[in-house]
Amino acid sequence: MKNLDILEQTAALAREFLESLPTRKVGASADVESLRKALGGPLPDEGVDPAKVIEELVRKSDPGVVASAGPRYFGFVVGGSYPVAVAADWMTSAWDQNVGLYVLSPAAAVIEEVAAAWILDVLGLPHSAGVGFVTGGHMANFVGLAAGRHEVLRRVGWNVEEQGLIGAPPVNVVVGEECHISIKAVLGYLGLGRKNVKTVPADEQGRMRADDLAGILRTCQGPTIVCAQAGDVDTGAFDPMDEIITMTHAHGGWVHVDGAFGLWAAANPELKHLVKGMEKADSWGTDGHKWLNVPYDSGISIVANAAAHNYSMTVTAAYLEQTDGSVRDAFNWVPEGSRRGRAAPIYATLRALGRKGLAALLEESCRHAKRFAHQLGAHPGIEVLNDVVLNQVLVRFLHPDGGDSDELTRTVVSRVQADGTCWLSGTTWKGRAAMRISISGWSTTDDDVDQSVAAIIKAKESLRQH
Ligand SMILES: *Cc1c(COP(=O)(O)O)cnc(C)c1O
Repeated sequence: MKNLDILEQTAALAREFLESLPTRKVGASADVESLRKALGGPLPDEGVDPAKVIEELVRKSDPGVVASAGPRYFGFVVGGSYPVAVAADWMTSAWDQNVGLYVLSPAAAVIEEVAAAWILDVLGLPHSAGVGFVTGGHMANFVGLAAGRHEVLRRVGWNVEEQGLIGAPPVNVVVGEECHISIKAVLGYLGLGRKNVKTVPADEQGRMRADDLAGILRTCQGPTIVCAQAGDVDTGAFDPMDEIITMTHAHGGWVHVDGAFGLWAAANPELKHLVKGMEKADSWGTDGHKWLNVPYDSGISIVANAAAHNYSMTVTAAYLEQTDGSVRDAFNWVPEGSRRGRAAPIYATLRALGRKGLAALLEESCRHAKRFAHQLGAHPGIEVLNDVVLNQVLVRFLHPDGGDSDELTRTVVSRVQADGTCWLSGTTWKGRAAMRISISGWSTTDDDVDQSVAAIIKAKESLRQH
């Protein structure tokens, strides 16, 4: 079990896999039964040579591995991983630091501190904000809304962490009609209730209607939290931040911004206008594993009121207090205690890209989105449903003889998935079936877009024959 040669062997296997990404079938080729058969069975009494374990694990998993880190994966909102990010992630595992406390790893604590400062800087957020490195967008939204719940109740004399929500003054929670499902999940975790929300209608792009928010805020007595969205998961659209924040603050409320991928628009001078005013919000959630292209799992929670952030996440015990408080104990900013050093891949990626490289990454994805929309939209019988403002494209396939376009669209999506040139998923937008194309990976080229457009059109045309 102690032979370190296994690391070189694994590096070679990793390299082989990464080199296969541009050419392998994008979707998985194995079904669940064959994977269970290959990987399963009872755990034997006797161990196996670790080198053999890794070799088998890689070989048996291979048909079930999706090339989501590759250049033609456009499903959901999924980024790849830069080689520098994978390398930093390997070191994170090799170091095996528990980054919960400063004394457990001064290096990891400082890496977090620096990565946090860089993130605030590139996103144009207040330098005094609290930052936590969490598993993803869900937990980033959880932390922001937990801090908001703390603060709006504190202002009316209620300590929610100590007293809980039973008997607490009611909290008004306002969401947009198109808010991401993670917001609802988190409202459940926080005891605020998934259905106990006031919903602001959205416009045809999925943006919260600010004038409707004004009316809804007038019905909110007492503590109020408004959830805004930077980057709709289907259309990429942005809620009107400036108006939402100004109105909510005038009402005494807290604004949380879910910007899992869209928040990064702030890091590109050409895209920045999309998030205008968002720096005045109270909390933000975003992902590293989507558009920044670091490995899973990587989310970032940011709270302007660092004291509220800290209070809502802090618990303490004598055996954990090992410093004079002048250094950063990471566990005071996240819901977890023991934890891996998620900031190192973020640090390495930002350092390698620089501000310019980051801006260029974002711009490239948006350019590819426009290329998709332009080429597909020019084809008869294909309609682009959204204004392509970011990296998301929604398309719909129109039945030539007035037949069922929903069914046609869903069939084209599954044909494209089976073909394997690229992979993308479907959705329902404003009651109509649509194909979603999300460009978040660093490695996509114009040629990848063209190949994928050809595969989509081929799938559509193949249906016409019948
Ligand atoms: C992806 C996404 C989330 C959830 O992020 P995870 O990292 O999957 O937990 C939340 N909000 C939006 C807008 C997203 O796109």
